[in-house]
Amino acid sequence: MIIDTHAHLNFLEFDNDREELIKKLIENNYQVINIGTNKESSKKCISLARNCVYASVGLHPLNVQSALKLKDDFDKKEDDFDYNYYKDLSQDKNVVAIGEIGLDYWYRPKGKAKREEYINKQKEIFEKQLDLAKEVNLPIVVHCRNAFDDLIDILSRKNIPGVIHCFTGNKDNVESLLELGYFFGINGIIFKVNLDDSIREIPLEKMLLETDCPYLSPPNFEERNNPFSIELIIDEISKIKGISREEIIEKTTQNAKNLFRI
Ligand SMILES: [Zn+2]
Repeated sequence: MIIDTHAHLNFLEFDNDREELIKKLIENNYQVINIGTNKESSKKCISLARNCVYASVGLHPLNVQSALKLKDDFDKKEDDFDYNYYKDLSQDKNVVAIGEIGLDYWYRPKGKAKREEYINKQKEIFEKQLDLAKEVNLPIVVHCRNAFDDLIDILSRKNIPGVIHCFTGNKDNVESLLELGYFFGINGIIFKVNLDDSIREIPLEKMLLETDCPYLSPPNFEERNNPFSIELIIDEISKIKGISREEIIEKTTQNAKNLFRI
C-alpha cells in the first residue's frame, strides 16, 4: 500500500474526473490525505473523505490576509484564523491532521515595516493553529518556504508532532527538525531543486511520500499531477539513497500510519 500524504483532490483541477480517479486509486491499493488550505477547501476535504481517503483542515499561510492586501493568485484569503470554525471541522472522524499551516516568505513586500507586518501576521496565525492542533490532539502538516529559521524557532517552543511537507531545507534544517521529531514530506520538487544532500540525511524512518497534486508534477508525468506519480518519486529516492523501492514503500507507509493514526 502507498499513502499520498499530501494531495489536493479537493481542488477544482479535479472537478471533471475526481470520483473516477479516487476509485482507481483505491483499486490500486492507494490511500490519500487531502489537504485543506482555507475554510472552503478544508470543508471540501471532509466531504470527499471515506475509507482510504482522509482529510486535513487548516489555513495556508498564503491565504492569510495581512493589512497589506497583497495580490496573488492563490485562493480565498481569510483576515483571521476562525478558531471555532476549524475546531468544529477537526472533530470529523476522517480528519487526521491540522494543515496545511506554516510560514511562506516567498513574496517579499517592499520596505522593512511592511515586510515585518506581513511576517508577523503569518506567525500569529500559525501559532493559533498550533494551539488548535494541541487542543484537539492532531498532528500538523507544515508548509514552509524560505522561512526555516523562524519555523524551527516556533516549533521548538511547542511540542506537536507532524510533517514538514514539500521539504526544501538544507542539511542543518534536517538536523534541527529531526531533533524536534518531525517527519519530512518528499514530493516532485526533488526534480526541480537539488535536495540530494538533504534526502541522504533524512532517515527512512522519518520520511513520508506525497505529491502535492495538482502541483509539482514530475517531468514526463501528465501535466496535471495526481497521486500515481508517487512511483516516480519512489524511484528517485531509491536512486539517491541506494535503498530498494520495496523498503521505501514499506517504511514510509508505516510512518504515515503511525503519524496520522490511520
Ligand atoms: Zn499543498
